[in-house]
Amino acid sequence: MADRDGKIWMDGEMVDWRDAKIHVLTHTLHYGCGAFEGVRAYNTVDGTAIFRLQEHTDRLFNSAKILRMQLPFSKEQVNEAQKAVVKANKLESCYIRPLTWIGSQKLGVSPKGNTIHLMVAAWAWGAYLGEEGMKRGIRVKTSSYTRHHVNITMTQAKAVSNYSNSILANMEALDDGYDEALLLDSSGFVSEGAGENVFVVKDGVVYTPDLSAGALNGITRNTVLHICKDLGIELVQKRITRDEIYIADEAFFTGTAAEVTPIRELDRVQIGIGSRGPVTEKIQSAFFDIVNGRNPQYAHWLTKV
Ligand code: PMP
Repeated sequence: MADRDGKIWMDGEMVDWRDAKIHVLTHTLHYGCGAFEGVRAYNTVDGTAIFRLQEHTDRLFNSAKILRMQLPFSKEQVNEAQKAVVKANKLESCYIRPLTWIGSQKLGVSPKGNTIHLMVAAWAWGAYLGEEGMKRGIRVKTSSYTRHHVNITMTQAKAVSNYSNSILANMEALDDGYDEALLLDSSGFVSEGAGENVFVVKDGVVYTPDLSAGALNGITRNTVLHICKDLGIELVQKRITRDEIYIADEAFFTGTAAEVTPIRELDRVQIGIGSRGPVTEKIQSAFFDIVNGRNPQYAHWLTKV
């Protein structure tokens, strides 16, 4: 990925993709204290626009606050940087990755004395869990790894270090022939996917774990809450057990990368009809209408680049 043409915004400057480098003694590389965002821009009916840019920037600042990192840029600058990167790389629809990290002045667990940095990259990225998965649904495994307890790592931060847990779960699931992992919280209740929030549908009601299960407060999750309200679908946030998913009518993952991806199996148990269900399809279709600029009610969620 490093050896290609393009531009990356680094600490206020647009640099050539190949030159966007950091030192091996970078604090974050050693101890994992950093935060990032995953954002998408869509080629909407009115041109390229970033979906819920402000909410992503706000979450980045919240993550940094939780990790006690003082970003040396304003939210406006971070918004502008994301727009500029999409433009500079001439992308129509893409994934955008802002990341903040601690510099390389000094090692030792205490980050004091180090500078804080920020970069924004963007590249074309299609369906994260596959085009086929978007229609047919994916196969998911309950992970043998537990999701972070809310007082071990901070689960409302999209922290770099939280992702070693996601990577372990995802690798285990893929090695076992599944498409993605589902993680349970430390009490055994459903938390989230390795990089997605999870929803189930039962008797026409949509359920998702409340955030005390250690799940990230996903922006796509929030979008689905709005969609359900608009469609008159009841949505309940509550504790969910894995067997509630086995006997659900439908299940799906949400995320900026994953968008709205149906789940057709959990632990080799077929969910509902074993394919994308009607409620999931409705929500998925409403989601794509919004992100592609076809729903004027949500025009304010789209920032033109
Ligand atoms: N949970 C985790 C662990 C994630 O990495 C993501 C992706 N950012 C999500 C949930 C979904 O969040 P969002 O919809 O804001 O992308």
